[in-house]
Amino acid sequence: MGLKTPAEYRESLRDGRVVYWDGERIDDVARHPKFQIPIAVAERDYDYADPTRREIMTYHDEDGALAHRVFQIPRSETDLAARVELMHDMSIVGGVTGVFMALMSVKDAVAEVSPQYAANIERMYRHVRDNDLRAAEVITDPKGDRSRRAHEQDDPDLYVRIVRRTDEGIVVRGAKLHITAASLVHELVVMPTKGMRQDETDYAVSFSIPVNAPGVSIINRSFAPPELNAFDYPASGHHSMPEGFVVFDDVFVPWDRVFLAGEVQLASRLAQALGLWERTGGLVGSVATSRLFVGLAQLVTEMQGKERDAICQNTIAELICYAEMLRMGLDYACTRYETTPSGMVHPNALAVNTAKYYYAANYHDAVKKLQDLAGGLVLTLPSEADLRNEASGRYIRKYLHTKQSVDVETRMRVYNLIRDLTADAYGGWHLVVALQAGGGLSAQRVMMNRIYDLAGAKAAALAAAGAAAPKALAAE
Ligand SMILES: Cc1cc2nc3c(=O)[nH]c(=O)nc-3n(C[C@H](O)[C@H](O)[C@H](O)COP(=O)(O)OP(=O)(O)OC[C@H]3O[C@@H](n4cnc5c(N)ncnc54)[C@H](O)[C@@H]3O)c2cc1C
Repeated sequence: MGLKTPAEYRESLRDGRVVYWDGERIDDVARHPKFQIPIAVAERDYDYADPTRREIMTYHDEDGALAHRVFQIPRSETDLAARVELMHDMSIVGGVTGVFMALMSVKDAVAEVSPQYAANIERMYRHVRDNDLRAAEVITDPKGDRSRRAHEQDDPDLYVRIVRRTDEGIVVRGAKLHITAASLVHELVVMPTKGMRQDETDYAVSFSIPVNAPGVSIINRSFAPPELNAFDYPASGHHSMPEGFVVFDDVFVPWDRVFLAGEVQLASRLAQALGLWERTGGLVGSVATSRLFVGLAQLVTEMQGKERDAICQNTIAELICYAEMLRMGLDYACTRYETTPSGMVHPNALAVNTAKYYYAANYHDAVKKLQDLAGGLVLTLPSEADLRNEASGRYIRKYLHTKQSVDVETRMRVYNLIRDLTADAYGGWHLVVALQAGGGLSAQRVMMNRIYDLAGAKAAALAAAGAAAPKALAAE
């Protein structure tokens, strides 16, 4: 019980979990070279030694015990601000553990249908918090033919489903794809990927299960090879996290870990609750990245002596506009927060969906602007090894010189970061993450249509047109 140390976290992963990566069955995740960078990333969230970081990363729960702040249920604007500050600092492993915020935000709605499931949510939340565990958001099903519903697929397992119910629990089968950090957490929190209909009761299923539960297998994939040097890969050299292809091969889930087992009316509530916190995380990340883009754009422009060029200035102004719209979107979402009936404070749902959409829809264009300013060296810059080689290094220093005030090595570092963030494997990963993680563009469009005050907008439009609202419209 209580906070773990980084070493205790690492050790806790040696629990017999079934993990594959590049054709190899990996028995000891904690020691295997492929997992060293991702584990180091996750371990940082367990490093409570520095007093300033401890202040950001921890809080006292209702029993007075010190816990990781990712488990603090925001009750005020101040709590929400503290959570956003934490999200800026925390690894993606901590980020996905925020799945418990989603569960706790729908607990009341779940209680109306089943007090037992609601009690299970509360108990699992406390179990994970009190033992300083991490959890993955396990939502996205393979989905097979998208034009058919879950129970209409050629293979009934293309959405996770209940195959058996017993007095002790349920048995589930299926897979969930793209699951961030699945191999490096302790609990897999499974939720339906979307709303389910009355004839899909076996697919309306949610639960939490330990990663080492019998029948669970995880196949990993990452943008990063195990070792990347920090000079050539300044971002991905110390930051990578595998996604997991998670298989549930007739996994037994005891009833006290079940949050939903057939109550279709709750399926979309759970899926949507997660979307809000997941998109908030994406938005927090986008604020940092877009600011970095502005800094990199200004640096390459100055380093190449183009800072007085009007086209460069315009491009940088457009990048500033992108970064500021995102920053303001996040600020607005937090200051115009919303409160659930039980008093949980969460970011404004319309603002989060709008700003996340804006980030995703314009991300590729922001990358284009940065790469346009930077030029071909983004791809062709020689590596650190060639710089350190005396003969080739001499040429590199001579011909990458731009002016006295620019140090060639610094210039190379700036280019390496642009390549790493936007053009190499990690850059490609970012391009897809912007679009898909937290739900594709369509998921945010659906939410915007659903939440926006369309009735008010229509009334305003009719009034401006000098027309009275027809009865059907007025009644809305
Ligand atoms: C790096 C990464 C990490 C991720 N991490 C997680 C995670 O931790 N947990 C998790 O559960 N999921 C995770 N995801 C999954 C992510 O949420 C999905 O990729 C996303 O929801 C899209 O689902 P899909 O990939 O099945 O694509 P599809 O559902 O097939 O969608 C593909 C495209 O089809 C179109 N489309 C889909 N539905 C509609 C619609 N109703 N109307 C119009 N167009 C539509 C859109 O253009 C959409 O982008 C991650 C994804 C990535 C790339």
